[in-house]
Amino acid sequence: MRLLMKFGGTSVADAACIGRVADILEQHRKNGDELAVIVSAQRGVTDQLIDTATSLVKSRDAAAIEPLIESLRTRHMTTLQGAAPGFVDEIGPIIDEKLSDLRNILHAVYNLRELTPRSKDYIISYGERLLAPIIGATLESRGIPSVVLDGCEAGIVTTPQHGESTALPECDERIRRRIRPLLKKSVPVIMGFMGCTQEGILTTLGRSGSDYSASIIGAGIDADEIWIWTDVDGIMTSDPRVIRDARVIPELSYLEVMELSYFGAKVMHPRSIEPAMRKNILVRVKNTFNPAHPGTTIVRNQKHDHRVVKALTYIEKVAALNINGAQMIGRPGVAKAIFSALADKEVNIMMISQGSSEANISLIVDEAHIDIAAQALAPLVAQGIVREVMQNRDVSAVAVVGSGMVGAPGTGGRIFTALGKAGVNVMMISQGSCEANISFVVRQEDGPKAVRILHDEFRLSEAAE
Ligand code: ADP
Ligand code: ASP
Ligand code: MG
Repeated sequence: MRLLMKFGGTSVADAACIGRVADILEQHRKNGDELAVIVSAQRGVTDQLIDTATSLVKSRDAAAIEPLIESLRTRHMTTLQGAAPGFVDEIGPIIDEKLSDLRNILHAVYNLRELTPRSKDYIISYGERLLAPIIGATLESRGIPSVVLDGCEAGIVTTPQHGESTALPECDERIRRRIRPLLKKSVPVIMGFMGCTQEGILTTLGRSGSDYSASIIGAGIDADEIWIWTDVDGIMTSDPRVIRDARVIPELSYLEVMELSYFGAKVMHPRSIEPAMRKNILVRVKNTFNPAHPGTTIVRNQKHDHRVVKALTYIEKVAALNINGAQMIGRPGVAKAIFSALADKEVNIMMISQGSSEANISLIVDEAHIDIAAQALAPLVAQGIVREVMQNRDVSAVAVVGSGMVGAPGTGGRIFTALGKAGVNVMMISQGSCEANISFVVRQEDGPKAVRILHDEFRLSEAAE
């Protein structure tokens, strides 16, 4: 089989983890599979890079730079020594050279006290840049030829939207041309999370973007399957850190995973399903630390699980904008004015609900975008298009996901009755037309409780028949 395998940050966190990764790859090579690999940064490295880069803009000195470089050097050299001791002389200088480039860029940020989206993307791609050569060397040390490529070299061309770029259609052809010829003789090790614009400027695909890289490359090489290796046994009925008895879901549809990841299930990047879905490629989510577990299989039409509700997610920090004003009644164009004003400021709207009286529109946005959203809407108040815009930052969004809800009357009733009985006040409700998702908003302190109640109500900790 031709397989694309992606390993997340925890799966490559140290030399012992990388040993497990190499065991998995070696086994598949022995079985005759063709392999391409996507690697993330080691756990925590991207956060470190973001923190230091952003702190330099406000800093009175450049003191934060050396401790970061030193910590990255120690961590990556230790990993290299442990994972591929025979390659320290070859790869050590490559790591040092990358760190020296990184140091120079960070000094430039400090000197200018300016971090543009473009330079930020460049800096935060260093986690993947530092790690990929170590993975390549580890494979070589086991006699597996490898070729290390960055996302751009691998053929990922994106929109110029720094920090959240999207792959362009020409990726498929480029990736096929560049990667397919390598597969017979070697294992390409590709740095996740990054691509470049048509002009060759580096871009990143959003946090957790290596999942998206995996799907883009998997689609480009026409992989038989895409395997996302992580630190849990598969996609679970809820975040296992919130719901301790959450269970692994054996099979999900593309649509269900899209809904889950869009509504905060951190296990997958929200856009990572689309390229696989386009090519109808089966995706598996598996545990690097427990490879014998079958994990979760993601397919177009899941067949084996007839539950109505499959999983729950929640996003702890969102904010609500309640836009009121009788002027909106029967007046065409008000919704357009609201959405255009928000789109101009690149505010992403997560949920929308409008009362039938039309006197009120409620929107849910990322909490980090609330100030900019309020500023964007202020002119509409000034122009009398709406009367007032109220904000509420103390809210969480919960999503109930399952394609079995389509044509299963009463699911909404069951959800809101269970919440009502437990005294959880629901502030807003939204159901997508695809019917695979009912989402609602509660006070932040009620978020985990709401998830717990519904996990019990739909008996998600029990195995499906
Ligand atoms: P990786 O570094 O492999 O990309 P992430 O930390 O991004 O891993 O994603 C895996 C984590 O996602 C798990 O450790 C788990 O805590 C969290 N998670 C949140 N929701 C879910 C869910 N529904 N199913 C599985 N894991 C989830
Ligand atoms: N290293 C990047 C991040 O932390 C991408 C990824 O891990 O998928 O967001
Ligand atoms: Mg991830």
